[in-house]
Amino acid sequence: MKRLIAIFATSLSLFNTAIAHDSATAAYLGNEGVMVVHGETKVLFDAFYADSYGQYALVPDTIVEAMMKGAPPYDGVDAIFVSHVHGDHFTAEPAVAYMRANPTVRLYAPQQVHDAIVNSGVADNDPLMARVFGYDLGPEDSAINFDVDGLQVAAVAIPHAGNRPHIQNFAWRVTLGEETTVMHLGDAGTVVSDFSRHMQHFKSRKTNTAFPPYWFYGDANGEMILRDIIDADRTIGVHVPKRAAGDGDKWRARAGGDLFTDPGETRDLIGK
Ligand SMILES: [Zn+2]
Ligand SMILES: [Zn+2]
Repeated sequence: MKRLIAIFATSLSLFNTAIAHDSATAAYLGNEGVMVVHGETKVLFDAFYADSYGQYALVPDTIVEAMMKGAPPYDGVDAIFVSHVHGDHFTAEPAVAYMRANPTVRLYAPQQVHDAIVNSGVADNDPLMARVFGYDLGPEDSAINFDVDGLQVAAVAIPHAGNRPHIQNFAWRVTLGEETTVMHLGDAGTVVSDFSRHMQHFKSRKTNTAFPPYWFYGDANGEMILRDIIDADRTIGVHVPKRAAGDGDKWRARAGGDLFTDPGETRDLIGK
């Protein structure tokens, strides 16, 4: 009996250790740039871009330098996801520089982003292109799904806000460590039918944390999409204008929901 208790105690402490290891956090980089970490697994969304269009936060130089050097906590990134090709979400040069400095990291994106990398001067037969995965996915196409490097990945194309039908905009859903599922919506518009046609996809896996553009808050359709279709445990709004930096509490109160406003800020994704 004593031995049984000892074994039980040992397995309990192992269990506790496992829990302690599986912390999950989201770190804000700027505009819609987010790093999500689950244990040893790390992914980046919309992290490489050069255009602020005068109103959106760029990734601060200190964070860019740490990312390029692979300094903690920006070391060991497993994959990069890009929502769409607009310059406040993606610019080929910094993305390519990062991929050259990190020779195993892969990039997943709409085909237009793949083409932007080629058009920036990376030859088709450059080994780097073997790590660039572009998908030609339209709003009516069913979701893509794949597993890679311990990540379970899915995406649907959700049309860009403001009637820009020529832009491929993806909502990526990524599960890290088989436990933490996040969804990044890019610049999705708040058209209910653009989401409801993918209901089966959205219901096929529970999203723990969604990162919608902040215009989903306070918009009847946006709120309905977040509540009834995406149904995440929590949402953190992104794409907030840079003038919100330093004033996050006021912006969050006014939005009626959580927002990332200051590059470098983080959220613990375990619990709420
Ligand atoms: Zn855009
Ligand atoms: Zn944008």
